[in-house]
Formats: sequence, structure tokens, C-alpha cells
Amino acid sequence: MRLVLVGPPGAGKGTQAQFLAAHYSIPHISTGDIFRANLKAGTPLGVQAQSFMDRGELVADSVTNEMVKDRLTHDDVAHGFLLDGFPRNVAQAEVLRAILAEKKTPLHAVLEFSLANEEIVARLSSRRTCKDCFQPCVGVDKCPQCGGDVYQREDDKAEVIARRLEVYQEQTSPIISFYRTEGLLISVGALGSVEDITAHAISALSRVSE
Ligand code: AMP
Repeated sequence: MRLVLVGPPGAGKGTQAQFLAAHYSIPHISTGDIFRANLKAGTPLGVQAQSFMDRGELVADSVTNEMVKDRLTHDDVAHGFLLDGFPRNVAQAEVLRAILAEKKTPLHAVLEFSLANEEIVARLSSRRTCKDCFQPCVGVDKCPQCGGDVYQREDDKAEVIARRLEVYQEQTSPIISFYRTEGLLISVGALGSVEDITAHAISALSRVSE
């Protein structure tokens, strides 16, 4: 299964991605997590991405596209993948389509998680993130997944949340009509329990032929 998850920040893409990737036994590829891992390791890519991330802006397409292109050459994507946080604008969606067309492995579906703005702001301001595995964590001091310490992402602070929502509306939301036109879009409401949302997503995806 080759999947893309789309949705505003805080819609629960990261959480759902963990469950869906496990269900389909495919790697979860989060561009945000790759940038954060590079930042933590102090690589040139991480240093380059940091100022954009801290301000809630998108990292340059040239940098992001190359990073994804490289990731999609790894052996673990042979049986599919789940992209979370990429593409984030129509130009990236076109690059992804070209990369996959060249490999003759087009996407099977794009899952859109939708959520009202007030709910997004409430969720993001209470969200904490694991320092080690970057799992989103709420109301806990240690990551339930790996036991790592949790912290508040610079871009989950109130001032940056507003900008991230604008960037989503202006730059990312146009990819929804792009994928609707391609016949790939499946919309799932992102309000409800994590388990229910995963079950809806899996049920909707069961109608997609691999
Ligand atoms: P996320 O963890 O998906 O919310 O991403 C955190 C930040 O990483 C974003 O606000 C951007 O600064 C950067 N980022 C992640 N994915 C992309 C992308 N596809 N294009 C450009 N920047 C990205």
C-alpha cells in the first residue's frame, strides 16, 4: 500500500500514521521527523531546516524533495510506504507523482484528516513530543512508546501555531483538490477516539485496490 496522509497540523496524522503503518507493515515516512532527527544530530540539513521549522514555514522544496527522493530509494519501501507531512504544496505533489511514475509505483490513496481550527489550536498547545522517537504525547511526562523525555516543540508554541495554520491553508490545502482530481482522495473526520479514526481509515482503505 502506497499512501499519503494530509491534514492540518494537530489533526492526528502522526498518531494515525503509527497505527496504519503497523497495520499494513509499511514504513512511516515523516518529513518532519526526518528534519527533527537531523536537527538533533546537528547535520547540515538539520541546521538548514531549523529556522524554517521554528517559524512554522516550509523548508525549501529543493531540499525537501531531494530528501524524500533519497528516502524512497531505500529497500524498505518495496512493499509500500506511508508518507506523513509530504507533499505540503502542489509543486511537491507533482514531484512525488513524477518520482513514483518513474518507478511505476503510483500512489494507491491519499487520506485526508479534517478538523476545525479551534480544535487544532487546543490540541497543538497541549501537545508534547518525545525527544527520542518524536511520538506525539499528551498528558504524560515520559513517552508511552519508548520511555523518552517529552518536550514542547518550538512550533507548538501559540505564536507559531497561527502561522502553521496559515501556511496549511495557503500552501498545503490546494493539494486536496489536486488529489481529488486524480481520484485518490479519501476524507476521514479527525474528531473522535484514536481507535475509531484508525478503524474508519482502514475500512475506507479496504475499498482501494492495491
Ligand atoms: P511536521 O512534523 O510534519 O508538523 O513538520 C514540522 C516542520 O517541518 C514543518 O512546519 C516544516 O517547517 C518542516 N516540514 C515538514 N515537512 C515538510 C515539507 N513536506 N515541506 C517543507 N517543510 C516541511
